[in-house]
Amino acid sequence: MTRTEPRPTTEPRHPAEARERPEHERTNHRAPTAAATVHADRVPRPDQHDHGALRAALAAATEDTVVYDLAGIGRQYAALCAELPGVAVRFAMKACPVDEVLGHLAGLGSGFDAASPQEIAQALRTGVAPELIHYGNTIKSDRNIAEAYRLGVRDFATDSLEDVAAIAEHAPGSRVFCRIATTGEGALWGLSHKFGCSPEDALRVLGAARTAGLVPSGLSVHVGSQQMTAEAWAAAIESLAAVLEALNWRGITPERINLGGGLPALGVLDRRGRPLEPPLDKMFTVLREGMERLRAVNAAPLDFLLEPGRHLVADHGAIRAHVARLSSRHRLDGTREDWLYLSCGKFNGLYEMDQLQYRLEFPTHPGGQFVNAVVAGPTCDSDDAYAQDGGPVRVPRAVASGDPVWIHSCGAYATAYATQGFNGFAPLPYTCVGGPVPDGGHP
Ligand SMILES: *Cc1c(COP(=O)(O)O)cnc(C)c1O
Repeated sequence: MTRTEPRPTTEPRHPAEARERPEHERTNHRAPTAAATVHADRVPRPDQHDHGALRAALAAATEDTVVYDLAGIGRQYAALCAELPGVAVRFAMKACPVDEVLGHLAGLGSGFDAASPQEIAQALRTGVAPELIHYGNTIKSDRNIAEAYRLGVRDFATDSLEDVAAIAEHAPGSRVFCRIATTGEGALWGLSHKFGCSPEDALRVLGAARTAGLVPSGLSVHVGSQQMTAEAWAAAIESLAAVLEALNWRGITPERINLGGGLPALGVLDRRGRPLEPPLDKMFTVLREGMERLRAVNAAPLDFLLEPGRHLVADHGAIRAHVARLSSRHRLDGTREDWLYLSCGKFNGLYEMDQLQYRLEFPTHPGGQFVNAVVAGPTCDSDDAYAQDGGPVRVPRAVASGDPVWIHSCGAYATAYATQGFNGFAPLPYTCVGGPVPDGGHP
């Protein structure tokens, strides 16, 4: 993990300490408390979130920094548990491998979807039990499997006979869940092709697992990251139902279904600068009905898992950056273009900027005249910019080099994707607010 001089404000907490949390934050993924349900009977929209602590930290920052709002992430977690009662959450660590964030989620009862022994070790440092960590990556070497097993992990994703044979050898007796391929349709990032197998392969893979002395414990899907349609889950549930039925017929009765990640962030814009408005309520309805359907198909009781990444953290992280330059140039075809170059870009916090736009706020220029500019990061790489066929961004004409810029809803995939000094631009330091320690350590 890359990061510079973190200024941690909270120690990772042991799950038992969750008792000390305020009533509204206290929840359990298996049995949401009435308080959590009342508090979060639907997931708050970005404009309904209380971003007070986040904004205060952005305002207090005098240097560039990423700010994570732990209380906001906790509320998002509670809201998700209230929407999908009884579903166990395994946070997909790559979306935010920040110790304080992981510790906070562990304290609320979350487990982790890890993709390498290094992520497993980081998850264990939160104090979470190894049973709440699964190895969700279908890609792993013999050595990775052996190391995960040594660390206590007994649940492995798989999608091939070769991987099953390796798990049987290096993690004997473990549980495996087979990832079924999805089309990725409707998602900003499809995650198709590289992962998951056909329904027919899934029967072979889980059959081979059983023969090899592993427990064929379940199935998983991932409908693609920043999924924008409820239909993607409806389709995934149909293929899960078909595979379950065929497995049952062969005497294999899975005990859990992992519905994957893909739930969207709410506060980001598309490439043209239009708000993305994912039909979240409909997605939850499809998921709830889908779970009922799958329970009706399977001959044994089914538990459900979810591996959200961006949905839990995206809207609760923001970056305080600054203006490098607002400049105007003529292109070869003679048209004039305004460009806003920021101190931070694709390689130090805004990795997804070529596929979506983050909301920008210029706190020292609330009004005045605007220009329509293309937004870009500071490096000598042309990918380090908002999509150039996308929509321009309204930028106050008066901004000057050094003025602060707040970049919203970039709490997911910010730190993990930061390069170690591309062109000398180092990963940003980060700060956490809203944790259990009073005065969440504003910079
Ligand atoms: C990345 C990933 C996730 C999280 O995806 P999001 O779209 O951020 O929710 C979940 N599961 C697996 C296996 C992943 O690789």
